[in-house]
Amino acid sequence: MKVLFVGDGQLGQMLGASGISHGHECLLYSTRTQEVKPLSAHVSLPWSLADAIEWADVVSWEHEAIPADVIAAAHDKFLMDPARIKSLTDRRAEKKLFDDCRVGTSPWQSYGTVSELEKLLSKAEQPLVLKAARGGYDGKGQWRFKPGDDVSALAAEAGKEPGIAEHMIPFHKEVSLVGARGKDGSVCCYPLITNVHTQGILSYSLGGIDDVPDALQQQAEEAFHRLTTALNYVGVFAIEFFVVGEGKDAALLINEVAPRVHNSGHWTMSGANCSQFDLHMRALTGMPFPQLHIEPTLMLNVIGAQQIPVGLWHHQDAQCHWYNKEPRPGRKVGHVNIRTANLATAKTWVKQWRERLQVLA
Ligand code: ADP
Ligand code: MG
Repeated sequence: MKVLFVGDGQLGQMLGASGISHGHECLLYSTRTQEVKPLSAHVSLPWSLADAIEWADVVSWEHEAIPADVIAAAHDKFLMDPARIKSLTDRRAEKKLFDDCRVGTSPWQSYGTVSELEKLLSKAEQPLVLKAARGGYDGKGQWRFKPGDDVSALAAEAGKEPGIAEHMIPFHKEVSLVGARGKDGSVCCYPLITNVHTQGILSYSLGGIDDVPDALQQQAEEAFHRLTTALNYVGVFAIEFFVVGEGKDAALLINEVAPRVHNSGHWTMSGANCSQFDLHMRALTGMPFPQLHIEPTLMLNVIGAQQIPVGLWHHQDAQCHWYNKEPRPGRKVGHVNIRTANLATAKTWVKQWRERLQVLA
C-alpha cells in the first residue's frame, strides 16, 4: 500500500519506518515547508501536494493540525473525517468531546476575552490551570492561578487568546493509555503507562513496569472505546489521565487526548512485540491486531542534549533513538528505551541518566 503521512517530524519518520517493514511505500508531507519528502533523507521530491495525494492509497498524519488544503484535497483518502480530528487541536472542542462521551475530566469553563477571564478568575474559589485553546504543547500556553493571586495581571497575559480554565487536580500520578482502533471497530491497547513530566514536558515513561489495577485499566479502556467510537476513529490514539486517589480509591480523570501515535508510547518500540507504529500501520491497512506481549521498559526522553552519551549507545539494555534535530533547551531530540527488571531498577536508570539527557529551558 502507498501511504502519505501529513507531517515530517520524528513521529512521521517512525511511522514510515514501520510502514516500510510491513512492505508499504511511505512519503511524508511537511506542513511547514509544503514539501513532499522521502523518509530516508532531508531532500524534497519535485512533487506537488496534489501529486502525492494522487499517488497515495491512504493519507494519515503524525500530528493533528492538518492544513485545510490537505483536508480538502485528500478528503476521500483519509479513513475518517480529518476535520473532526483537526477540531481536537482546540481544547474547547476536546473538553466538550469528553463531556459528550461522559468521560470524567476536571471541571472547566471557556473564556474568549481578557474581561471574561478576569470575571472568571475573580469568582474562582479553587486553584485553576489556564490553557490556551490552541497551539499549546509540552506545557506551553499554560498558566497557574490560585485565589488571592493578581487577577488583572494574569488575565491580561493569559486572556490574549481564547482558552479554558480548569480545576487544578491534586493527582497521585499521571498515566496514559495508548491503543489502536481498527476499521472493523476492534481495539488493542497497551497496559496503562506511568508518565513523569518536568516543566510540563514528558521526562520519562514506565511501560509495563507499574502494577496496574484491573479496575483502572478497564476504566481507561472504556474511555478509549467511547471516545474512538464517537470519532469513528481508525489508528493509534492516546489518552492522558490523572490518577486521583490511591489503592482501592484510585480513579482516572482524563486530561487530554492525542489522535495519533504518542511520545508515551515510544517504549513499545522495544518493549512490545508490536510497537505503537506497527499497530497504527495495521489499523490503516486492515491487518488484524496481535496478542500483545510486553517487556518492562523505561523510556527516557532526550531533551535539548547535544548527543546521547556513547555509554548508552553501547549498553546492551539500551536502545537509542536520535531524531537528527537541532538541539535546543526544552526540545525533544531523541529517546532511549531501556530494558529494566522493575520499578527500582528503572528509578536507578533515571537517577543516573536523566540530567545528562535532559536540558530544559
Ligand atoms: P500539553 O499539551 O502541554 O501536554 P497538558 O494539558 O497535558 O498539556 O498539561 C501538561 C502538564 O501540566 C500535565 O501533564 C500535568 O502535569 C499538568 N497539568 C495540566 N492540567 C492540569 C490540571 N488540571 N491539574 C494539575 N496539573 C495539570
Ligand atoms: Mg499532555
